Amino acid sequence: MTQILDIVLFIASLLLIIGLRKLSHPKTARNGNLIAAFSLALGVVVAIFYPVETQNNNYLYIVIGISIGAIIGIISANKVAMTKMPEMVSLLNGFGGLSAALVSLVWIVNNQFIGETGQIFIVLLNLFLGFVAFLGSLIAYGKLSGKLQDKHLKIPFSTVVNILVLITAIVAIVYFSYNGMLTTTQLYVFIGVSLLYGLTLVAPIGGADMPVVISLLNSLTGITAAISGVMTDNKLMLLGGVLVGSSGIILTLLMCKAMNRPLLSVIFGSFSSNKSSETSIDGNAKQINPSDLAIQLAYSNRVCIIPGYGMAVAQAQKIIKEVETVLESKDVEFKYAIHPVAGRMPGHMNVLLAEADISYDKLLDLEEANSYLETTDVAIVVGANDVVNPSALEDPSSKIYGMPILDLSKTKNVVVLKRSMNPGYAGIQNPLFFKDNTKMLFGDAKKTLEVILRELKDL
Ligand code: NDP
Repeated sequence: MTQILDIVLFIASLLLIIGLRKLSHPKTARNGNLIAAFSLALGVVVAIFYPVETQNNNYLYIVIGISIGAIIGIISANKVAMTKMPEMVSLLNGFGGLSAALVSLVWIVNNQFIGETGQIFIVLLNLFLGFVAFLGSLIAYGKLSGKLQDKHLKIPFSTVVNILVLITAIVAIVYFSYNGMLTTTQLYVFIGVSLLYGLTLVAPIGGADMPVVISLLNSLTGITAAISGVMTDNKLMLLGGVLVGSSGIILTLLMCKAMNRPLLSVIFGSFSSNKSSETSIDGNAKQINPSDLAIQLAYSNRVCIIPGYGMAVAQAQKIIKEVETVLESKDVEFKYAIHPVAGRMPGHMNVLLAEADISYDKLLDLEEANSYLETTDVAIVVGANDVVNPSALEDPSSKIYGMPILDLSKTKNVVVLKRSMNPGYAGIQNPLFFKDNTKMLFGDAKKTLEVILRELKDL
């Protein structure tokens, strides 16, 4: 029986790798997702039937647990709006961390709080990272959904507190591992310290800095899954955890580069600056109407779309594709400038544009886009704000100062589609709207683009 289950696990591991590989291209991603999900389902079945020493034939509890989880999962996955996806991903990530922490708790209780040095070390490390990922992700969920604002989470001397809590956790792990045991009270205190670190890690990080911490939390959950795989001798969980953990770390480093922040300052919580950043902006924003914009577009050589979170809210991606088709039929070159933190989750814009069948070849990354934008006739900013905010380059007192942006200073004409003069996620004003080469076109991005499309077709 064990041998058959091992073979099934091996096949599931191969399927998981194939599935994840297919996720790297929009055309194969849907199949990749199904294959990876199937491989994980196989892993669950194997885990249920795998003989372990402490097996109590708790099949009823397992079935009840899985059923409740599946029902909640199916209902929420069907109900969630595309714009709420980043929040859902944060929640799922948090529950991944909690599951890993529960694996450690079960181990501790089953082993009556005693173990070899190495065992206790691994178990407590897993418990710590699991609870950090859990509470950190719940706070990230709160921030992404707007339920928690930075002002609700002010921790005095947050950097010092954060470092002290981390040192306490490390000393505790070393001490308990050396002793080979811990008491119930010590366990509760340790859980409290782990949760406190999750709070002090994520709470001070705000504004435009969230993407880095989100990918860091993803990788923490991956690492805890890998450790849980070692603890439960489940090779699929180990493999999945290693893949998620390592790709999460790579993504975190890429995000750090994109945001121009050192990773250590994320870990020690001094990431969000306390700069006031509210330099007032004088001047009037100029406006343009859809028919004038349509004429300008039709007579351009190069047009570039800059999508942002507002495109996701408006669900404007399909109409943009139609605008692309019409303009290309008029010999206009059409590209997309993608900022790595546009939207609310890594790759958010790429997913939405792929959904609208927009070719990957037309997507320019930050560096390519910035040189393209220098020779662009019209750049249309569709619901983006922070990622085009020139304060990041020009205003040392701004809290996004130093973050690389899509630079529109040399673009001939910039048109911003948004509903009002309200700020974006970082909550700061955007001097771009008042620049000489910029005009505003107020309204829901999808509705505005529908009018532009009609005008273009009539030209
Ligand atoms: P922003 O959040 O800066 O701005 C979005 C803009 O879209 C708003 O100013 C809003 O203006 C506009 N908008 C909203 N709804 C609509 C609509 N229906 N039609 C037209 N416009 C609309 O988005 P960006 O993409 O520029 O920047 C992303 C921000 O999110 C960055 O600060 C980033 O750090 C942060 N973040 C990113 C994550 C990631 O992983 N990508 C994760 C967490 C945070 P108005 O209300 O006036 O319409």
